[in-house]
Amino acid sequence: MHVEPHALRLGREEPDAERDVRLLTELGRTRHDKRHRHLGYPLNQDFDYRALSELLDTPWYSIGFADEPDRLGLGADAFEREILAFFAEILKAPPGEVRGFLPTGSTEGNQWGCLLGRQALPRAPLYFSRAAHFGIRRVAELLRMEPVEVATLDDGRMDLDDLEHACSLRRGRGAVVVNTAGTTMLGAVDDIVGLRSAARPAGDVFVHTDAALSGLILPFVDEDVPFAFDAGADSVTISAHKMIGLPMPCAIALARSEHIPQGHDVEYVGISDSIVKCSRDAYTPLLLWYALRRLGTPGLTRRAHHCLGTAAYAVDRLKDGPGKAWRHPHSITVVLASIDASLAHHWHMAVENGVSHIVTAPHVTRADIDRFAESLRAETSRHTTDPAPSNPAR
Ligand SMILES: *Cc1c(COP(=O)(O)O)cnc(C)c1O
Repeated sequence: MHVEPHALRLGREEPDAERDVRLLTELGRTRHDKRHRHLGYPLNQDFDYRALSELLDTPWYSIGFADEPDRLGLGADAFEREILAFFAEILKAPPGEVRGFLPTGSTEGNQWGCLLGRQALPRAPLYFSRAAHFGIRRVAELLRMEPVEVATLDDGRMDLDDLEHACSLRRGRGAVVVNTAGTTMLGAVDDIVGLRSAARPAGDVFVHTDAALSGLILPFVDEDVPFAFDAGADSVTISAHKMIGLPMPCAIALARSEHIPQGHDVEYVGISDSIVKCSRDAYTPLLLWYALRRLGTPGLTRRAHHCLGTAAYAVDRLKDGPGKAWRHPHSITVVLASIDASLAHHWHMAVENGVSHIVTAPHVTRADIDRFAESLRAETSRHTTDPAPSNPAR
């Protein structure tokens, strides 16, 4: 839906709440109708929280960890504690030994994990692969850690020889290493066990796992794919809006309690300041709790397998054509040869370094894949059959 900027201008017109509600409602409807063209980014759009709209005239604010006192009295701590306990179990944390919170997204979760790493190993550089999420480099800058970009193998996993080499050049300072479980473009899962031993020349090693997307897939596949606390992660983050789906971004961040510094006690709000920010959103956690109550482990398992099935279907459908589709075994990221810019725009797909991808998030159907395959075929044949531009009149 195209809205003229003047229709949104603030501060001039007579207020007309009904008109504005109509405008916003229409905007929401158009978004909703367009979701079958959203193939490129890992965001589930298949959800409905309208049953909880009654909550929208009440403030929902948390301050501090959910296991600290809620002096403000506007939080949702009991719900957050359940969510964190559920994820601690999925991520195979030793019972009672991890703590965390619900940040606004995995980027914030990554920042918190890397901060804990830096606090544990103050002189350590931040090692991350070339395929790590773009936000990681920024985290290194914000935390003033030396950024060390590690090469990747052709399939997108971190090159462990290169990591070892980089760590040998910086011996004895310790290493904070970002382990990506499901890289952004290729859906590769780094080898967390290999990565820890490759980093040994650095001295002590802190591993933060960025499992933004695959953190809600890998625990439910038949094979044991190590990436979480049982495999040696010190902190882990997962985005909730990706596989679960929410109207706004939200993530889960957990870390081994031993790495979480006490912080300074803040008398004003009766908590410690170790998660850095003050007010946190306590509304989204309620939606997340509601979604998890409905799904449970069986629902999440079914959902992961459903998405993997759609991904397998997409590879089958697109592997022989111009798309040359492939994917990692437990990934819902279907990698394609770079596609035409207008197609990428229409289907909301990323193009980077000559590759593109479809992410078969829960809302993506096989019929969507068929429609995309058809438009890719049409676009390609248009390019190959177009005669060279010529002017018959000359
Ligand atoms: C999506 C993604 C992120 C960013 O997550 P947000 O929740 O959008 O901040 C980070 N890392 C990976 C691997 C991702 O897929």
